[in-house]
Amino acid sequence: MHTFEFIRPENPAAAVATSAKAKTAQQGADVRFVAGGTTLIDLMKLNVETPARLLDINRLPLDKIEATPDGGLKIGATVRNSDLAHHATVQRDYAVLSQALLSGATAQLRNMATTAGNLLQRTRCMYFRDTAMPCNKREPGTGCPAITGSNRTLAVLGTSEHCIASNPSDMCVAMAALEATIHVQGPKGPRAIPIGDFHLLPGSTPHRETLLEPGDLITHVTLPPPKPGSKQVYLKLRDRASYEFALASAAVVITISGGKVTQARIALGGVGTKPWRSPEAEAALVGKSADAANFRKAGEAAMRNAKPQSGNGFKIELAKRCVTHALKMATTA
Ligand SMILES: Cc1cc2nc3c(=O)[nH]c(=O)nc-3n(C[C@H](O)[C@H](O)[C@H](O)COP(=O)(O)OP(=O)(O)OC[C@H]3O[C@@H](n4cnc5c(N)ncnc54)[C@H](O)[C@@H]3O)c2cc1C
Ligand code: SF4
Repeated sequence: MHTFEFIRPENPAAAVATSAKAKTAQQGADVRFVAGGTTLIDLMKLNVETPARLLDINRLPLDKIEATPDGGLKIGATVRNSDLAHHATVQRDYAVLSQALLSGATAQLRNMATTAGNLLQRTRCMYFRDTAMPCNKREPGTGCPAITGSNRTLAVLGTSEHCIASNPSDMCVAMAALEATIHVQGPKGPRAIPIGDFHLLPGSTPHRETLLEPGDLITHVTLPPPKPGSKQVYLKLRDRASYEFALASAAVVITISGGKVTQARIALGGVGTKPWRSPEAEAALVGKSADAANFRKAGEAAMRNAKPQSGNGFKIELAKRCVTHALKMATTA
């Protein structure tokens, strides 16, 4: 691993001021915040990330889970994934988030991984992690070997001719269905970004993954008040039952009255280049009977624009079934 300077900023303002000197907050950043380190240190060992400065944010006061005045929830950036998953309010009102977090990684990793770090985890595309290979996301303009190579685990939604990497997060999928907002402190002050806008599609710039700019420190995430009477499920389908990323996953938050769906929020994981909210699936459900045939139609609507690669066409049917089954589980639970 290359050498770097390790800094412990006194407060969030000092962390922002130091990181604002970086050239970019995207791939190739020369200054990085480090939280749990479970993504960043891995990538530094592989020389995929080579920051000259690491700013340890673990002592900053960003580790609380608190109720908001409007009845929602505020989750600090350094709240550990395990603490969030086991928090009583999250288990009661935002069960889909607790389930998504507990489906990820292992207990040891969840004890280290943080809310902000999870939002910013990088793709598991094998070419991205191998500096002997070209990769547009790691080194812009070098090409995308995954398109003609190994792409079984990669995306079928939101891809471009420059990158087909899937976003690996489970937490973000649940947060997309819960309509979370990401709060950032930057050199010009604070701002709030809806999670649907936070991650970028690869387009012709796959090295740009989020809206973050140099100096931007994620301080917390807020969730709106829970929908009264909503049913929630996170279903993750993968090659083995634990310690594995999703091939396809679905987060559903659904409300039913008189046998009809009155509200539905559906997001998918494992299949998109970003955590994938599906307005198509939601529109296919609202106002319809809550039955198996309509659940299947929602799954089909979610994957209508999917584009298979040579090795991942199976994900399209898998994701349809995942949405269908998650809706069945939510409505029969
Ligand atoms: C073996 C393994 C298996 C895994 N399996 C899964 C899985 O099944 N599902 C899943 O969802 N995840 C999985 N993960 C990923 C894991 O969830 C992430 O590594 C973790 O959430 C990252 O959090 P962290 O705090 O360790 O981030 P770090 O590694 O500390 O940071 C990650 C990135 O976020 C940036 N960052 C951190 N905090 C802030 C902040 N406050 N503001 C701005 N930038 C910040 C860092 O600079 C860095 O770029 C797995 C990881 C491993 C190693
Ligand atoms: S899919 Fe994206 S991350 Fe993977 S090799 Fe292609 S450009 Fe790189």
